[in-house]
Amino acid sequence: MDRLGGICLDYVKCEGAFAAGIATRETVAGGPPSTDLSYAMPEARSAVVFALALDQRTIPDYLAKRDRLAYEAEYNRVNSISSGVAVKLAGFLKQRGFPAVPLAANDVYREDTPLGRFEMFPPVSLRYLAAASGVGSFGLSGNILDKTHGAGIILSAVVTSAELPPTEPLSDEENYCDGCRLCLAACASNLMDPEEKTEVVLGKRTFSYSKRRSYLRCQYVCGGYTGLHASGKWSTWSPGRFPVPEDDDAFLPLLLAGVQKYSRRPEGRGGRYHSLMDDKLYTTCGNCQIVCHPDPDERKRRYQLLARGGVVIQHPDGSLEAVPSEEALRRLDAMDADTRSIYDGDITPSPDIQALADHMRSLAKAGG
Ligand code: SF4
Ligand code: SF4
Repeated sequence: MDRLGGICLDYVKCEGAFAAGIATRETVAGGPPSTDLSYAMPEARSAVVFALALDQRTIPDYLAKRDRLAYEAEYNRVNSISSGVAVKLAGFLKQRGFPAVPLAANDVYREDTPLGRFEMFPPVSLRYLAAASGVGSFGLSGNILDKTHGAGIILSAVVTSAELPPTEPLSDEENYCDGCRLCLAACASNLMDPEEKTEVVLGKRTFSYSKRRSYLRCQYVCGGYTGLHASGKWSTWSPGRFPVPEDDDAFLPLLLAGVQKYSRRPEGRGGRYHSLMDDKLYTTCGNCQIVCHPDPDERKRRYQLLARGGVVIQHPDGSLEAVPSEEALRRLDAMDADTRSIYDGDITPSPDIQALADHMRSLAKAGG
């Protein structure tokens, strides 16, 4: 079986992964529910997890809001390849007599949580598998870091009944995260708690990263509904400038109201389809991930590109443009009230939306 483990690790590297490891039921024991390999397959014994790198050359212009499409295309391409490699390895293992299930890089969620796919709860967490198997280290952001590619990586995995030998997690010395907090500064949603950390036990190791506030924060901003940083000086690639409240409980109705505003915006170039949306999803954020480079000077440069890159506005033909914050306000002032309302202003949920949000909350509460 050691030979099969070695072949699996080499298999994914032949297909484009730069790092690979093996997690087992034992090496993720004690972890959160999303480390339960048997969720993917009852007879699961191990998981082969691997990482592909994003082309870093597309990142600076994306952060500076000079070119969105090149990074989005790269992100979509690497996600597709990564999920495809998982499908291929699962097929290989099945042909060898070991049941196996591929875990997609993204966009596949549990259906059996109280709110179903809407909670975006993965079948099995790729991040935990990657940390437990030494594919990478947890950064303060909660993203997985690699000493060469930073957090600009895409993970996938295959869960299998084969008893593959586990690989070791990386040592703390191999983790370049120095707590610079630029990932927090680059997040317009304030998903990451600035003070508290979460500790996760996986097998014999304890990992930590910043505690998450409501994940709906990220859905609201990374989903493109809004994107203006609290400073008002810069934004994500989203042309929305609805406020990001302090109270976690406010996000569910805001998100539902945001979907309606988003649907009325003109279609732009690029984008992709996502199981939670009828409209196209455009890549507008991911900043916490791609700001994080192993070189602290490059990290700082990337953050400055983001923070000095201005505020994005949308033209009637759907195209986006980043302009200084004062100019963005002038452009909004020049819009008629109805057009402006899809980007800015009052996003108080209607009574119907509020009732739906209350219903969803009660479902979630009842589900535990
Ligand atoms: S941006 Fe800084 S604090 Fe955040 S994960 Fe990267 S190195 Fe760590
Ligand atoms: S993807 Fe964007 S909104 Fe989501 S946590 Fe990262 S920086 Fe924040």
